[in-house]
Amino acid sequence: MLNTATIVCPHCQHPSEETMRVRVVERTIRCSECSETIEAPADKHCVWCAYGDIPCPVVQNAGSCNPYK
Ligand SMILES: [Zn+2]
Ligand SMILES: [Zn+2]
Repeated sequence: MLNTATIVCPHCQHPSEETMRVRVVERTIRCSECSETIEAPADKHCVWCAYGDIPCPVVQNAGSCNPYK
């Protein structure tokens, strides 16, 4: 189980390494660089699935939408 992902802010393109919470689907997080809210698009599961380099733990557990399987 990977729970650390690099997320790239869509506002300032700043990559930051964040720890994903295992049981929580996070639709929004705040960028540590520009303080803008990073919001997942409606067609994406969560911010990690939309902007992170790996799927979130929820998706990893479900085994779906997982390109690393
Ligand atoms: Zn930002
Ligand atoms: Zn997700």
